[in-house]
This record gives sequence, structure tokens and C-alpha cells, in this order.
Amino acid sequence: MGSTEVSRIVDAIPGLAWSCDPDGNFDYFNQRWCEYSGMSMADACEGGWRDAIHPDDFEQVFQWGRERRRTGQAGEVEARLRRSDGEFRWFVISTEPQREDAGTRVRWFGQQTDIDDRKRAEAILAGQKRLLEMVAGGCSLTVVLEELCALFEDTARGCHCSVSLLDPTGTRFQVCAGVSIPASFRVPGRLVGTGEQGPCALAAYTKEQVISTDVATETRWQIAWCPLALAHGLRACWSTPISSRGGRVIGTFAVYLDEPSAPTPFHQDLIAQFTHIAGIANERAQNEAALRRSEAFLAEAQYLSSTGSFSWKVTTDEVSWSEEVYRIYGFREIVPVTMKLALSRTHPEDIAQVSELMDRARRERRDFQFEYRLQFRDASVKYLHVVGRATPSEEGQLEYIGAIQDVTERRRSEEALGKVRSELAHVTRVTSLGALTASIAHEVNQPLAGIITNANTCLRMLAAEPPNIEGAFETARRTIRDGNRASDVIIRLRQLFAKTDGSTDSVDLNEATREVIALSQSELQRSGVILRTDLADDLPLVTGDRVQLQQVILNLLLNASDAMIEIDCRPRQLLVTTRRNGDDGVRLSVRDLGVGINPEEVNKLFDAFYTTKSTGMGIGLSVSRSIIESHRGHLWAAANDGPGATFSFSLPAAGSGTR
Ligand code: ADP
Repeated sequence: MGSTEVSRIVDAIPGLAWSCDPDGNFDYFNQRWCEYSGMSMADACEGGWRDAIHPDDFEQVFQWGRERRRTGQAGEVEARLRRSDGEFRWFVISTEPQREDAGTRVRWFGQQTDIDDRKRAEAILAGQKRLLEMVAGGCSLTVVLEELCALFEDTARGCHCSVSLLDPTGTRFQVCAGVSIPASFRVPGRLVGTGEQGPCALAAYTKEQVISTDVATETRWQIAWCPLALAHGLRACWSTPISSRGGRVIGTFAVYLDEPSAPTPFHQDLIAQFTHIAGIANERAQNEAALRRSEAFLAEAQYLSSTGSFSWKVTTDEVSWSEEVYRIYGFREIVPVTMKLALSRTHPEDIAQVSELMDRARRERRDFQFEYRLQFRDASVKYLHVVGRATPSEEGQLEYIGAIQDVTERRRSEEALGKVRSELAHVTRVTSLGALTASIAHEVNQPLAGIITNANTCLRMLAAEPPNIEGAFETARRTIRDGNRASDVIIRLRQLFAKTDGSTDSVDLNEATREVIALSQSELQRSGVILRTDLADDLPLVTGDRVQLQQVILNLLLNASDAMIEIDCRPRQLLVTTRRNGDDGVRLSVRDLGVGINPEEVNKLFDAFYTTKSTGMGIGLSVSRSIIESHRGHLWAAANDGPGATFSFSLPAAGSGTR
């Protein structure tokens, strides 16, 4: 084969080829190489080849060639080579040594393969990956969009681009990125529509790509947009709508060029990829904003309701608190939460109980709720109510999710209310006792009269000749008995007048009833009431404030007596009954044959200040009901089958349930 034939064959190879002598002097470039670079072979061999290599890559290529000659080994290097139109494209340059003569000298044959498309695809992929990482990493939307524009400009070369996003109404642009286009194209607030606003406004409006290949000959937007674009040297614009996953247009992606031009399939492909990423970035930003908003709502709601939330992974004892729990506990949010930390603020008197309840939650894996107190360094105290719900965590471990509410205010107002209630109870008691004063005075007066009579008799007996010692003893004994009777009445009375502190004792309801009856007996008799009792023998004790319970009984007795005051046609009979109520309670009823009650108005009777009596205050029953309810019982009224009404209350027996 002649050398011309060889060079014809070499020229036919679909790649760029060359050769150089053992000293590195180029002596051949194939025709494709010359066509690509726009250089003649002679010029290239003369040193023109240097100009074909991108200045940034030159040093690397040069060193690589040297290394080949030193080692005599084949090799490859990547570099950008200038095309005749000035554009640089990536190539992989490979070379093979060819032994000459006896094998001491080596010639080099080289070949260059265009890898620009692959390189570009790799760069796009890497850039898109970086963008998506920025999106996932929570980078701000404008930063991501600026980066997206920069990447597009790098990849597509020779263009400027911008991203404009619509406001929630979809009628105006609000966010705009793309620093390389003039600011007047990026002003927020531009309207969407078919008017003079330009390609983006139209693309967002029609939901379709709008292409203006030559602004100079463009017939749309001739009044405003085209002159502005031309003034900035922009000759072409391609604007593509960006859609959400739901298909709603959320903005536009615009590419501007300095020369008239239409998008190539490469451009269109790139635009499709970038609008997709812009859509994802926007969606992510929207979701994050929604999340932040709902977190803010939650935090505000927690603050307003003084309720925080927590989670507790039982196996690892990992605890996490919401901001509000930190606030309730008075810790700064940077402090990591541990059970130990939580217990360190728990009131010393409650630590044992809280630890016990947590241990139980660990063992029983059931929902819990309880109240406990916190104590702070300044000795102030907070009351907390905690509720925990057992939920298996994602890893299948037990986790409690719950809420902690600061109930201090409620507790304080309950205490204040309790105080007011007990004062009111005291006032009503004093009032109802006032009604008894006359008969009680009479009751005390009787034994006193007896005492005086007996003492006189005693004196007479002692003064007799001979003194009647026997009789004097007897009358002195009677004097003592009457004295005790009077003193008993006074003691009971004093107890009932005393202010109570809502103490909790074990109370025998029968005994308490008998005492009240003893006090009110003569008043009832004076009103012509015949009182009968039917007190159960097996009555369990109740827990509570004896005096308060007696106040309720007294109130019921006096009301019953009042209800019968005008009844003359039948005996004014009153029956007080005590009974066991179910398995673990007691019941007391006061049944009269009075005017009775209207079943429809039964509940009104318990309203404060409801009275039908000219001298009534109307608070007796309402106070009685609150006393009974504070003892975890019920007070109710019912019309009798026959005439009259029955008022009853029930109370839990001592030791039933927990307080
Ligand atoms: P007061 O006795 O000062 O009126 P109460 O709260 O004790 O206040 O009673 C409210 C009202 O309930 C009474 O005015 C009366 O109309 C009605 N009432 C209470 N007990 C009876 C009863 N045993 N029979 C009929 N009505 C009753």
C-alpha cells in the first residue's frame, strides 16, 4: 500500500488522528483533524496544534505527552479542543507507541474522540444532583432557583435565563430568579395575561411554551416588551410554563439569547429537565412553608392552652419535649431532656409517686394519666396534668406520646372556689341554725329550769331536820344529768356553728343524722311534724366532712318541715331513711307529705337563689348539692307517688375507689 493510500484510509477514520516523531514533533494530522480545527496540516505541525487546546487544559496535556515519551507507555487524557467556529468541545486523546528500526526509537500515533456530549450529560447530571441536594437540604427557594439558572446557562452556553413564580392567586409573578437578565424583566408583581407583558405572561396564561425566535421581527408585544428586550440586546426568548405535580401552572422558565434563534431538541430536553426541577423546588418550598405554618400554629396553640407534648421511647428512655414543655418546666430548649432532668424539677413529695407511675407504665404498657407538681428554686409550685398514650413506634418498640398541661391556674381557682363555697356553706348553715334558735333556746332552757328546780329541792332536803341525804343525792344526780343535757346541746351547736376546713374523716351517717335530729327535734315538734327514722344497721362509713354532711341533712329536714307547714288535712309526717346503696355506697332520704314538687321543675330547685318562700334565700339546696358533689356523691329530688316529695343523697362508702 502506498502512503497516499494509507493517508486516504486514515482520513476515512471517523475520528481525529495524528502522529509525531520520538522527540514529540508532530508530523501528521488527518483531514478530519484539520477540518475540525480549521487549520492546515502544515500550520498544525508548525506548532498551530497548541492553539487548538483549551488554555486551561494545555499544561496537563503537555505533561501527559512528556510522560508518554519518558515511559514509552500508551495512555489517555481528556481535554477541550477548539473547533473552527471557536467553540471548545471535550475529547479523549489516546496514543500508542510504534517501535521503529531496531526498536530503540518510538513513533507516536494518536487519536482523539469527541466526548463532549457525554461530558455535558455528566455535568448536567451532577448539576441536577447538586440542585436536588440543595432542595432536600432545605436551601432557600431563591438560592436554588439562582443556582438552577446558572447551571442552565453553563450547560446551554450563550444564553441567559430566569425563573418567575406566580403568587397563590396565579395572576401575578412574585418571585423571580436569574441574575444575568436585566432587572426590568424580573420585577415582581407583573401580571399574567395576553397583554404587553411579554412571553412569560403569555406562557403562564396559556399554559403553553411561547417562543419568539427573533424579537426584531416579533409582532406581539410591540409596544412595550420588544423595545425593552432589544434595548438590552436580547434577540430571542423561549418561555416555558412550570407546572406543579397536580398540573397547575406555578411559574415560567425563560431562556433569552443575544442572537435570533429557535430551541434545538437539546435545548428543549434541557428546558424540560430544568422546569421539572424548578417545580420540585417550588413544591418543596411550599410544603416546608406549610409545615412551618402548622408548626407555628401548634406552638401557639400549645402556648395558649399551656399544654405541651412529649414522646418517650420506653426501651431507650429517650424523651423529647415540645417548646411548651420546656417553658412549663422552665428549662432552656438547648438542654437535652432526660428522665433524670424531668425528675429533678418534680416536687420532692411527688417524686416517689411519679417514679412509681412511670415504672408501672413501663411494665403494663397502658395509657396513663396523673397529676403531679413541679417545685422551682424559688419554692414556687406548678401543678401539671400529664396524659400518655401507648403507641408502638416505627421500630415496633413501645413509645408513649402525650401531653403535659399546666393546670396551676385551674387548681388555684378551684381552691379559691372551694374556699368561697365553704364560706357560703358556713353562712347558710348559720342561717338555717338561726331558724332553730328559738327551739334550741327552749331545749337548753328546759334542763336549766330542771337544774334550778333540782338544786332548790336539794337545798330544801339538806335543810330539813333531819336532812334527807338520800333525796339530796338523788336530786343532785338529776342536776348533773340535766347539766350534761344542756352542755351536749351547746357542744353540738358549737360544732355546727364552727367553720370547717373540709376535713376528711370517717363519718357514721346514722350517728350524724341522729345528732341533727336531736338538735332540730323540738323545732320540728313545734311545727307539728311527726318524725320517724328508719336507719339501716349495716351502714358502711363514709369519708368526708361530718359537719358539712350534717348541714345537708339539717337543710333537708327544715325544707321538709317548711313544705308541710300549711298542710292540715293530713298528718305532717317526715321519714328519714338510711340504706346501703349498691355494693359500695350509702343513701339517705328525707320523705315528707308536704306540698310536693313539680317534676318538670325539679332541677330548678337546686339553682342558687331559687326560692318560693317569702323569707327564703334559695341557696340551701344549691349549697347542699355542691357539698354532696364535693364528696363524690349525688343529691336529687323526686315527687312522691302520693303527696309530698323525697330528697335523697348518695355517697360512696369509705375506701371505695380512690380520691
Ligand atoms: P329556701 O329554703 O331558702 O327557699 P332552698 O334552696 O333550700 O332555699 O330551697 C329552694 C326551694 O325548693 C324552696 O323555696 C322550695 O320551693 C323548694 N323545696 C325545697 N324542699 C322542698 C320540699 N321538701 N318540698 C317541696 N318543695 C321544696
